[in-house]
Amino acid sequence: MPEAGPIQLDVVILGGGGAGLWLLDELVRRDFSVLLLEANELGSGQTVASQGIIHGGLKYTLSGFMTPSASAIRDMPGVWRACLAGDREPHLTATRLRGECCYLWQTASLKSRLGMAGARAGLRVVPQKLDADERPAVLRSCPGVVAQLDEQVIDPASFVSDLAWQHRRHLLHIDANDGLEFDQADSGEVSCVRLKNPKSGDDLALAPRHVVLAAGGGNAELRERIGLSAQTMQRRPLHMVMLRGELPSLNGHCVDGASTRVTITTAKDSTGRNVWQVGGRIAEDGVDLEPRQLVAHARKEIQAVLPGIGLGEVQWSTYRIDRAEAAAAGRRPEDVSIIHDGNVITAWPTKLALVPKLAEGIASLLGEPGATEEDFLHGVESWPQPEVALPPWETTQQWFDDV
Ligand SMILES: Cc1cc2nc3c(=O)[nH]c(=O)nc-3n(C[C@H](O)[C@H](O)[C@H](O)COP(=O)(O)OP(=O)(O)OC[C@H]3O[C@@H](n4cnc5c(N)ncnc54)[C@H](O)[C@@H]3O)c2cc1C
Repeated sequence: MPEAGPIQLDVVILGGGGAGLWLLDELVRRDFSVLLLEANELGSGQTVASQGIIHGGLKYTLSGFMTPSASAIRDMPGVWRACLAGDREPHLTATRLRGECCYLWQTASLKSRLGMAGARAGLRVVPQKLDADERPAVLRSCPGVVAQLDEQVIDPASFVSDLAWQHRRHLLHIDANDGLEFDQADSGEVSCVRLKNPKSGDDLALAPRHVVLAAGGGNAELRERIGLSAQTMQRRPLHMVMLRGELPSLNGHCVDGASTRVTITTAKDSTGRNVWQVGGRIAEDGVDLEPRQLVAHARKEIQAVLPGIGLGEVQWSTYRIDRAEAAAAGRRPEDVSIIHDGNVITAWPTKLALVPKLAEGIASLLGEPGATEEDFLHGVESWPQPEVALPPWETTQQWFDDV
């Protein structure tokens, strides 16, 4: 089929995780003409595999001091809360909540007690100490302080579906290997994004004023393809633990000194069983361990931080995943990261909680929308749309019950 002339539009976003989708919403609301191209399933990098905690910075003040990370993130719980309640755009009323709050508890060391006390500095969301009868049953036997932290925990897959459904006409599934090419002007700017329809093989050309790379771990390769340095990205690996079975619902962190020894969040699997995702220090320590070794370590850790928990009937598994962020010498960047090269913007949110801030930051760089034909979406009406990724417990094959 002969190729039609390029569709002129304001922005092409590559990558439909939390960052790309929230940005899409922000730009549509500001009347930009925008399309989002997804190479796999939406949210299939980190977003759907994340724990979904809408952090307010407490984790970053456990040393007792206000840090740049904490100040960057402290307004995010309020923003998300309003969106989840439908009081602010984007309306996220179809996003499921795993919990209205997180719990914070500690191992009995003096160091961790200091961490809890110091955590109050300057945050919007601060821990409220719970009396013994206010604690959830699973935390009643913990020896130290138990506190409630009003950080909501979302189900990331339903969040991705929620935004994807609202903007489905703007989403295109692409083959990033054989169906994506960039034309560049003499200035090095991207003048045209050429796509091949993964089903029909038809060609489509897009001529955007701006290109935003929001592809998480895919950003490095995309930058290379556009002639930009890939050294601007780092990966920090995690080896996460999952448990499923007769488990209580629990979302929160066991704090030990200035770090989170274990972070547990609870989801429901497709059969209605509770699944715990376990991160925190355990997932960093686990990077060099084989799955079975990590599960054995995790069993001991969970028994230590949740005395009295019954783990007899549960099944265990693990998944490996990289956090993809702007390069920061192997440490977590303090804030969102936005790099501007010509008409290409590369973005990493650093945390899911920060995607509203990232989207606003990018939108403010783009200025006003251009004059685009109103029906620019007609040209992509029959294009295949991406699905939403499944969470790791729905795709993992190997479960251990004898560790
Ligand atoms: C285990 C884990 C737990 C976490 N828990 C939390 C938490 O509780 N709270 C929190 O705030 N943050 C958390 N995070 C961090 C958070 O998940 C990430 O910061 C955030 O999800 C990143 O979103 P993203 O859209 O930039 O990237 P991703 O979610 O990785 O999305 C990138 C998208 O781009 C697509 N893509 C890749 N290459 C291409 C290409 N060439 N062309 C087009 N599309 C492409 C991918 O398929 C994917 O859909 C966690 C991270 C991990 C790994």
